[in-house]
Amino acid sequence: MSTTLRDVSKSYGRTVALHPTTLTLGTGVIGLLGPNGAGKTTMLRLLSSALAPTTGSIRVAGHAVTGSHAERTEARRRIGYLPQEVVFPRGMTAAGFVDYVAVLKEWRDTPARHREVRRVLDLVGLGDRATVRIRALSGGQRRRLAIAQALLGAPDLLILDEPTTGLDPEQRASLRGILSALTCTVLISTHQTEDVSALCDRVIVLDAGRTRFDGTVAELLAVAAGRVHQGPAPSEGAVGTWKTGTGLVRSVGGTPEPGTSIAVDPTVEDAYLLLRATPARGGADQGAHA
Ligand code: ADP
Repeated sequence: MSTTLRDVSKSYGRTVALHPTTLTLGTGVIGLLGPNGAGKTTMLRLLSSALAPTTGSIRVAGHAVTGSHAERTEARRRIGYLPQEVVFPRGMTAAGFVDYVAVLKEWRDTPARHREVRRVLDLVGLGDRATVRIRALSGGQRRRLAIAQALLGAPDLLILDEPTTGLDPEQRASLRGILSALTCTVLISTHQTEDVSALCDRVIVLDAGRTRFDGTVAELLAVAAGRVHQGPAPSEGAVGTWKTGTGLVRSVGGTPEPGTSIAVDPTVEDAYLLLRATPARGGADQGAHA
């Protein structure tokens, strides 16, 4: 079941946060990258139905997020959303909180609802913390609790805004395990380019409210192929240079000094930096799906 955006835009007064955008999101994990202010949160909030678009229409699993009240409710049942910041009622227990969200999502069958609460708590590794009050949970456990509520009801579209922030490496690996086992559309906004290389089938880069790149991770890496070097001195005009643990300088882009530097495999971060350093061609998109 796919998600579609057709000519979707969002303006706040005279600020255009998202220019008219048409996209189809199929199953798999899709990474949304972009600098602060690029429009990522706006796009996620539009998809989650928390925000109404200025123009255009959005459909999730065949239901119009931008349609009638009944259609929107149907669409909402198929969406799981993890906002960047979740304000918890700190006196509630972990299970009580997830149950409360399930009630808001109109799960009327109480035994089935309780089973589902247990399932999602187990999934994020909080099964043994179910009766602990939120105020006594660690930061990482609270973040996992927030993820648990987004997984309620096995949504068709799972929207995660910065899901790995505040997680330690083990918790991050465990979240990757959970997400890669899902068979729905997972849209993740992140600044962690390692998450993109580890998880995503597709990457969308937003810049100033426009799609700057839309393609596979391999296609994004191809942007940087042969353009990252390591040597004794920085490449002239590089967009980023730093001394690595080996004592050699890694340069992203620029012109390496002949004979002293070797080309190295680029990372998603290198490709992202190079893409950002290239002026947009009049708002034109790059990539396979653009
Ligand atoms: P990102 O998540 O990529 O950092 P946002 O979607 O938060 O970007 O913001 C995109 C643009 O829209 C920015 O210029 C931001 O200042 C503006 N913006 C976001 N929310 C609001 C709002 N509620 N009112 C006015 N401007 C907003």
